[in-house]
Amino acid sequence: MNIKKCLSFEDVLIVPKFSEITSRQNISLSSDLSSDITCNLPIISSPMDTVTESSMAAAIHDLGGLGVIHRYNTVEEQLELLRAVGRSYNTAAAIGVSGDYLERAISLVNDGVKVLCVDIAHGHHALMRHALGVLKNTFGTRVHIMAGNVATLEAFNDLSDWGADSIRVGIGGGSICSTRIQTGHGMPTLQSVIDCSFSDRGTKIIADGGIKTSGDIVKALAAGADFVMLGSLLSGTDESPGAKIERNGLIYKEYRGMASTRAQIGWRGKVSSREGVSALVPYKGGVANVVKNLDAGIRSGLSYSGCTSILEFQAKSEMIFQTSAGVSESHTHVFSSGIKF
Ligand code: IMP
Repeated sequence: MNIKKCLSFEDVLIVPKFSEITSRQNISLSSDLSSDITCNLPIISSPMDTVTESSMAAAIHDLGGLGVIHRYNTVEEQLELLRAVGRSYNTAAAIGVSGDYLERAISLVNDGVKVLCVDIAHGHHALMRHALGVLKNTFGTRVHIMAGNVATLEAFNDLSDWGADSIRVGIGGGSICSTRIQTGHGMPTLQSVIDCSFSDRGTKIIADGGIKTSGDIVKALAAGADFVMLGSLLSGTDESPGAKIERNGLIYKEYRGMASTRAQIGWRGKVSSREGVSALVPYKGGVANVVKNLDAGIRSGLSYSGCTSILEFQAKSEMIFQTSAGVSESHTHVFSSGIKF
């Protein structure tokens, strides 16, 4: 068997280049999802029940990104969540590929949704091909179709040919994901993005799963992503669904994989394959602070490459592979002898 070597976020760094940028405000982070949907920030919040309902969607929109309302509810509940976001937004909502997916899609589109996200774990699948065909037949170009997830260029091209306008790229990399442990399948998200960036279909790439820092976002953009999708980074905030939970004097919120036992019991009352975990993550306060920090990191990232836009950055940026010595040098390492102060 021919085994391909693949790269993860930590394996690479972006080479600093000459810059004439005097203020980070001179950098644009805008990215087009389609000809009529442009975001000022290339960040999409994940359609998970502990990440995106109405308040997260509204907050992320206000910060320049896009929020995708999850589908782990009845059609009526999802419509309620969508309406609560407010109409003045480009709303996005997730559907599946079986059961009530078409009825759900029609209700969402009739209610004004601009983006339908066909949200399944293994997107390179006959059910996805069927669903995309039905959705394209039903809506034509009236609605933007986001689909996923996929890990390979072949899958990316297939979904594009079946009708996807943007594709979530990344399998098994999510912070709450146990797909690789449970099934042995997956690919480092960065490598999947690099591979899919060779597509000639013009479909937008959304890097999804395993993004831990603004540095990872910058690397995903350099690799060819038009957007990143975030779960963990946006979890534990005021706007993420769920109550605050106190443990030993510290405040947490729940963040869980949609294929975790707790999530499956929560939305369908039974568990099939467990491919996710649930966690209590530290409460972070308002999502605006989190996103503003990410925004500042991404701007700084583009300025290290001397670029004022994402497109320019994708054309000019250069990545290198770093050894494990490079990885340890890249992490703050004063604490190997010092203490936190
Ligand atoms: P994170 O940003 O690293 O936390 O990853 C979030 C992404 O993980 C989501 O956008 C999904 O693509 C993926 N995901 C969500 N729930 C599960 C699960 O239960 N198992 C595997 N992947 C999941």
